[in-house]
Amino acid sequence: MLEIFYHPLYTSGISKNSKFPRDRYKLIFESISNSKANKKITFRTPEKIDLDLLYNVHQKEYVDNFIDGTLSESKQRAIGLRPWTKDIVDRTLFIMGGGINALDSAIKNGISSNLAGGTHHAHYDYGSGYCIFNDIALTANYCKNKYKEYQNILVLDLDVHQGDGSATMLKDVESVFTFSMHCGGNFPLKKQKSDLDVELEIGTGDEEYIEILKENLYKFKSIQFDIVFFQAGVDSLKFDSLGHLNLTQDGMKKRNELVLDFCATQNLPLLIFMGGGYSNPIDHTVEAFHNLFVQCTKTVGTIKS
Ligand SMILES: [Zn+2]
Repeated sequence: MLEIFYHPLYTSGISKNSKFPRDRYKLIFESISNSKANKKITFRTPEKIDLDLLYNVHQKEYVDNFIDGTLSESKQRAIGLRPWTKDIVDRTLFIMGGGINALDSAIKNGISSNLAGGTHHAHYDYGSGYCIFNDIALTANYCKNKYKEYQNILVLDLDVHQGDGSATMLKDVESVFTFSMHCGGNFPLKKQKSDLDVELEIGTGDEEYIEILKENLYKFKSIQFDIVFFQAGVDSLKFDSLGHLNLTQDGMKKRNELVLDFCATQNLPLLIFMGGGYSNPIDHTVEAFHNLFVQCTKTVGTIKS
């Protein structure tokens, strides 16, 4: 059984007047619930994150200002998701907790996901690009403190935007390798240095994308990892309004298959953070995430943690 962590606040914690396509979480949840995949997936309610875990990786003043509603106007604007609702704080704490819960599940069951997050643009003391706190850095820190046998973490960030926040926050964390494969001519304007960055040209399509990903995954086979964190943003789809790449749904499925096969053959537990998806209409994004989770159900039982 694949455990996926989901909370209704993932959608309702964002204002319906926000530009952000908040309905995608609810729509993906419904799409899976109404399909045959439902028999192989259990939805679990995440727990709110313990604030001490946030303080471990973010500046205390930034965390406290966000929680008590005193974050500066400019810091709020850099994050987006506005106008903020009264539930934005709870939503954020559930998303961060969902990452931790999904990590525990991935280590127990071989694979798991949070149906939100992948907030890779959040930095130590500020957020940006719809990201408030960085769940990838937070979960990596938690993983290294809790699980002595899972110290070597591969962050595989295949969102179309660079994982700039993860790059800066994990730069000095020993034995965490950050890989970001993204569109060079896209947000964020100022790129940071991951352990390995691959920049793709605007308009890159299925064939080239898959070839480049294959080459890089092949390189990773010779490095000792204990677990994979997959930021599985689907915003490299050709339908995406913030993407600039040209992947079809089949190309996206092939991408997922490569990652799932890599984890299965290397016997690495896989933790999935959702990441971006802004297609217009949103149905293409929903379909791509639906496909991803269906593909994941086939991996259950093949990874022994
Ligand atoms: Zn993105």
